[in-house]
Amino acid sequence: MDVASLPCCPRCDHILVGITQPRCPECGTPIAPADFADLGRLVPGPPWERRRYIGRFRAFWATALLFLFRPRRALSRLQGAARTQEAVSYWLWTFPAAWVSALLLYAPIFLSRNWKWLRWEIMVDEVLAAGIRCCALILAGMFVWLPMLVLLDAALWRNRRLFHVLARGAVYSMSWWFWAAVLFAGAGNWLVDTQLNKLLWMLPDEYMPDPEWLHRLRSYGWTWGNAPLRGGLAGGVPAQYVPWICWVGTLLVTLQAIATGALTRKASRQHCQDPLRANRRLMPYLCFGWLLAVYLLLVDRHVQLRFHLQFPVEQLHSPMVWLVEQIREAL
Ligand SMILES: [Zn+2]
Repeated sequence: MDVASLPCCPRCDHILVGITQPRCPECGTPIAPADFADLGRLVPGPPWERRRYIGRFRAFWATALLFLFRPRRALSRLQGAARTQEAVSYWLWTFPAAWVSALLLYAPIFLSRNWKWLRWEIMVDEVLAAGIRCCALILAGMFVWLPMLVLLDAALWRNRRLFHVLARGAVYSMSWWFWAAVLFAGAGNWLVDTQLNKLLWMLPDEYMPDPEWLHRLRSYGWTWGNAPLRGGLAGGVPAQYVPWICWVGTLLVTLQAIATGALTRKASRQHCQDPLRANRRLMPYLCFGWLLAVYLLLVDRHVQLRFHLQFPVEQLHSPMVWLVEQIREAL
């Protein structure tokens, strides 16, 4: 039997087969009654599923880092009996975690550049803007996969175990969207906005094959969305314009599709009588999911995800002004 599918102690990884007491014989960690009644729940999963034993904070960061640096290992740990709800609760925690981390990453840059004219309004403004961008990006990542997950849920109505393995793979791989939000909501946005524009103005016009094209590139808004209290939406956006954050999203959904494909092959070997047939049946769902996600991010003009992703801060302008007012009155 595959060792990876045996129940283990959530703290020391000692294999817990045939235990008679609700505690680990190796390190003495007490096993929760629900887990003791169904030891299948202790098959090693992502660290988040052991949060009751190792603490929520540690479990969250261990999971996020595992998916960033050891994605193959992270995906191989999804064979246990845990349910999709576990992964969804992890996903919900990525919102506040991304907000705080993005601010910590961006604070040194922002403070050093704005030190002389620093006012608290600008700071509140910037803090809210980073949070809105993080939430918009992480929500968009789930939104583009949702139709595929719903269809998969219906298709696997008789094989719930396999559904939970695949859905957890898709939801836990939102970790990559989390890291993108941390990187791009503050520091990355500033870097692209200022440095790319500088670079484009440094390019000599006369050597470009099409100066008109260069001129258009320079006039594009490269920012993810300026904070509204300092000017707001300036200039029109060209019709076929795809903001760079959507290209980042496309890269992320492609990585997720590759990972979920590998997970499907592995999981159907474990949870299906006829893995080849199951694979042939499931792959079209995955392809559909990926195509729909790319369509929504790059082409679609009905849902306007591109626009919502680039200008979430401007769209929430009024609530933001209201919130800033409330804080001002409270102080
Ligand atoms: Zn132990």
